[in-house]
Amino acid sequence: SFTTSERISSIPFSNIREIFEEAKRMEKLGSDIIHMEIGRPDFDTPEHIKKAANLALENGHVHYTSNNGIMELREAIAQKLWQENKIKIDPENEVAVSIGCKEAIFNTVFAFINPGDEVLIQDPSWLEYQYIVKLAGGIPVPIPLYAEDGFVMNPEILRQNITNKTRMMIINSPHNPTGSVLPKNVLEEIASIAIEYDLLVISDEIYEKLIYDDSEHVSLASLPGMFERTVTINGFSKAYAMDGWRLGYAAGHVELMKPIVKMHQYNTSSATSFAQYGAVEAYKGSQEDVNQMVKEFDKRRKFMMERIKAMPLTESVNPSGAFYIFPSFKKTGLSSVEMAKRILTEVNIACVPGSAFGEQGEGHIRFAYSTSMEEIKKGMDRLEEFLVRF
Ligand code: PLP
Repeated sequence: SFTTSERISSIPFSNIREIFEEAKRMEKLGSDIIHMEIGRPDFDTPEHIKKAANLALENGHVHYTSNNGIMELREAIAQKLWQENKIKIDPENEVAVSIGCKEAIFNTVFAFINPGDEVLIQDPSWLEYQYIVKLAGGIPVPIPLYAEDGFVMNPEILRQNITNKTRMMIINSPHNPTGSVLPKNVLEEIASIAIEYDLLVISDEIYEKLIYDDSEHVSLASLPGMFERTVTINGFSKAYAMDGWRLGYAAGHVELMKPIVKMHQYNTSSATSFAQYGAVEAYKGSQEDVNQMVKEFDKRRKFMMERIKAMPLTESVNPSGAFYIFPSFKKTGLSSVEMAKRILTEVNIACVPGSAFGEQGEGHIRFAYSTSMEEIKKGMDRLEEFLVRF
């Protein structure tokens, strides 16, 4: 057998795999599992977007594209970023289309992080950030988020964690796994800290369109002094139900984009040609399907929150973005892994233990409401039945 690289041996397989495998095993044996573990929309990609990709395929758009992506898509992204996010980019050299947001984040981290550099990351957060940073030899530094603050980052805590090795921070709003949305005044404080300490920022805005109540999405790069130091990451997976298409992008100042594009060149060259034509249609075509999806998510979110609020032994912050609810079950005295396992085996709901997202996630469970209302109703009945056993 071959020894694996130190780089890859230093990071584990995702620790939520165990639960996924168990859910699959139970399903094979005939259990009726309710899936609330998966972080992807349950909707199909809108028809007009599929048509555009099909047409591109028929028309022979089957070759490598420019590393940055097809010009039509870069222009559509530039227009979107200007109109919706107040970010002005040059489609020529300030955006690179990639294989999902994930590749864009990977490229950006590898383009800027040297071994030993520290990267500030919200805790809890999407698992991948810390592992991508570690793969690059960097050191992830968790910035704890607290339920008492609605899981909104406290800029003072951010400041306290800065050392002379800090080079970058990764901000995600709307936030996975808590659904929190960073308000403008907090983003302004984060921006002034980034400027004061000369930090580069990755702003992962993948959930921007999934936003509820009167929350507002503000892009960090649109704040004064931030464009030069912010790489905005976005994509098509969540808002357009295109997660399997694997399309995302990084956008920012040309000097930031040069090393990112270099990394992308050696990583994947270019994103899938015909898929990019679908993405053009996603941005330039009707937004009606997106609006409908968001409405449906909102209905489910409200329903779930009402049900969870009425249950014993659980507390939850009202999420105003993404498609997750992140209640605490600390009052049961169980760890989140024990809790998730019991919820799965005793009432057949697959969910993700909060500890998978960082230390601060301990005691919480992430439920995704990207499943039908019918399943959600059934799931909430089962969860309630489960909690009365304590
Ligand atoms: N960023 C966050 C915060 C996510 O939760 C996810 C998917 O779960 C992604 C990025 C991945 O995006 P993509 O499918 O574009 O790679």
